Amino acid sequence: MKKFFALITVLLLFVACTKNPYIHRSQLILISPQQEIQIGLNAKQQILQRAKVSHNPYYNRLVKEVATRIAKVADEEFHPGYRWEFYVLESPQVNAFCLPGGKIFVYTGLLKLIDNPDQLAAVIGHEVAHAILRHGSERVSMAMIGEVGKKLLAQGLNINERGWGPLFDLAYGVTAQYGVLYPYSRKFEYEADKLGLYLMYKACYNPYEAIKFWYKMMQQSRKKVPEFLSTHPSDEHRIEALRKYIKELITIKRDCSRRF
Ligand SMILES: [Zn+2]
Repeated sequence: MKKFFALITVLLLFVACTKNPYIHRSQLILISPQQEIQIGLNAKQQILQRAKVSHNPYYNRLVKEVATRIAKVADEEFHPGYRWEFYVLESPQVNAFCLPGGKIFVYTGLLKLIDNPDQLAAVIGHEVAHAILRHGSERVSMAMIGEVGKKLLAQGLNINERGWGPLFDLAYGVTAQYGVLYPYSRKFEYEADKLGLYLMYKACYNPYEAIKFWYKMMQQSRKKVPEFLSTHPSDEHRIEALRKYIKELITIKRDCSRRF
């Protein structure tokens, strides 16, 4: 029986390992894009039941404007098949995230810290990049291969759609907090930074504002670590990497004469 499960695991890994053309590496993902979108929808409902949605007209207009432009570029170039929605949540937390399926949440605590729409584009671009790159599902899949996976395999691979929910909640920290509080690996962060910058650049925002924003967050973190930084490492190496990415970016053509 053990051998049988080992064989199934190997087969599963083989089937689930797909090369992601945008980050030039293979990803092990045991959740289909359709399942992922459904789980994102459930998570959205949970969040909206528990969090307070802000009706501040300025914040809502700003988030809608910036997120729409980023989403448009994401749709045109990456075709994730998302139905985008944008929410501003009333909370002092410095945080933002994007669920699979394109549900973007930005906290008022973060909006208070940004100096201009370009800085918000840097944050939203980064979060949308995590979603497009399917980092959440990759993280869940990693957990499954570990201890949780062993238990599921012990149950005879009887994984139905309901079975993924709690795991996904765990990875997204949805049940514990409203946001994404479980940190991504450094590798994922660099990938999201790179793709995030690309998205904001193509949406005709100034990528240098990303550096200003992350730098400001770094200064803030010396006083007190904002929630956003507990899940998103910010340090000199990261800023250096951002500078390098921007140098490559600005050689790429973009059309800023069109209306977004
Ligand atoms: Zn991140």
